[in-house]
Amino acid sequence: MGDNLQTMFETIRDASRRERIPDAATRKRRLSALKRLVVENRAEIAQAIDADFGGRAREETELMEIVPLLSGVGHALRSLRRWMRGERRHVAITFQPARAWIRYEPLGVIGIISPWNYPLFLSLGPLCDALAAGNRALLKPSELSPKFSELLARLVSEYFSPDEVAVATGGVEVAQAFAALPFNHLVFTGSTAVGRKVMAAAAQNLTPVTLELGGKSPAIIATDYPVEKAARSIVQGKFTNAGQTCIAPDYVLVPADKAETLARAILSIAEKAYPDLQSNSQYSNVISQRHRDRLNGAIEAARKAGASVLQPAGAAGGGKIPPTLVLGTPEDSLLLNEEIFGPVLPIVGYRDLDEALGFVNARSRPLALYAFTSERRTQDLILDGAISGGVTINGTLLHIAQDDLPFGGVGDSGIGAYHGVAGFRRFSHARAVYKPGLFNAFEVLGPPFGKLAALAIRFLGR
Ligand code: NAD
Repeated sequence: MGDNLQTMFETIRDASRRERIPDAATRKRRLSALKRLVVENRAEIAQAIDADFGGRAREETELMEIVPLLSGVGHALRSLRRWMRGERRHVAITFQPARAWIRYEPLGVIGIISPWNYPLFLSLGPLCDALAAGNRALLKPSELSPKFSELLARLVSEYFSPDEVAVATGGVEVAQAFAALPFNHLVFTGSTAVGRKVMAAAAQNLTPVTLELGGKSPAIIATDYPVEKAARSIVQGKFTNAGQTCIAPDYVLVPADKAETLARAILSIAEKAYPDLQSNSQYSNVISQRHRDRLNGAIEAARKAGASVLQPAGAAGGGKIPPTLVLGTPEDSLLLNEEIFGPVLPIVGYRDLDEALGFVNARSRPLALYAFTSERRTQDLILDGAISGGVTINGTLLHIAQDDLPFGGVGDSGIGAYHGVAGFRRFSHARAVYKPGLFNAFEVLGPPFGKLAALAIRFLGR
């Protein structure tokens, strides 16, 4: 395994060292190959993901992975020439005549470690940006989605040459060996705990990292906003992929006197969205028994601690974990302290907005925040009062789908952002270039120092 991984890496690195900076046509050819890989195999991709989950709808994979990925690739293809253009920079009067500019150049080989929850979008999304920036890449998809990972390895070998892009598969030992390779940049998407290990491994090689991590993303419903309206977006954001979405609302903060109404509204929408839940192929399964046990354990612990647990009528009693609302969750419970990453939603009542913001700020900085309000002032109070990686106002999830917005976390939810031009720049080296004109003052200022040096020190050092 180790030798194979090392060989895959060296094949790509050697080709990257031999290659001059790839022009726009080469990058477009690679991006087009990526697009064809997805378009020509979309049914097989959705089937593999369905099999790994033990149940995930084709429509969900299309809407949440394939569509946004293709949109990102299209955006990169259209914008590439503009992104690649050098950027003229200002030169101070003392250095005139001269020019200064920035060249965005490839870093070399990008390593991409991705999770199982959106295995296509979170492996090929970073790849899109890496290729646009002129890099080559080695990928390590998750061992928890083995059918998809095997398929990806095969497809990548069909659409790319092994010295351009390749996929290493295997378990945690492969992932560890992978993180220890001397990449020029390493992108990791996964949990905060593993993110720390990846960053430590990368530090040995001085490999810069982009960490796309998780956390507890809050939804805050302000007093002015109808809870029934907010409920729709919350159902979409929370129960799509059975809550296994990094930016799913983790918990909701709502004025205390509306908590019960919100819970009932969410429940009634979820009942209509997912009838006959246990046999409903449009409601995703939770990926593994370990995660199902973790979630069931957290629900039981909250119930024992006195919280009330609501689920759609007749939905429990099978392998799938139904949409679950928890009211009166004790503040020290697992559900309010660890990332939930499943279809369980604590609803927390607050007295005033300051209390709600205090609740968010008492925890690690979240990846996403959802603010529901129609008042501009309240919107600003929330935006100014609590930090997060990204925000959707009066909705959920959709900031991630904006090709021209950077996507990433802050604090414990991540380091660095990608998508669109942000991704192009993240995987580029902004190389500074300075070129003096016909007269170069520097050449006449050297030793032996005389009057000119004294004059320069007097005027320039003011
Ligand atoms: P995980 O951290 O368990 O695993 C992610 C990847 O890391 C896997 O491919 C795994 O093989 C690899 N890995 C495991 N141990 C490693 C090690 N010691 N060194 C290097 N790599 C190692 O995460 P997961 O369970 O697959 O995904 C769920 C988590 O990912 C959640 O916390 C979620 O919020 C987060 N997430 C974040 C984003 C984002 O864009 N910010 C997107 C999706 C998921």
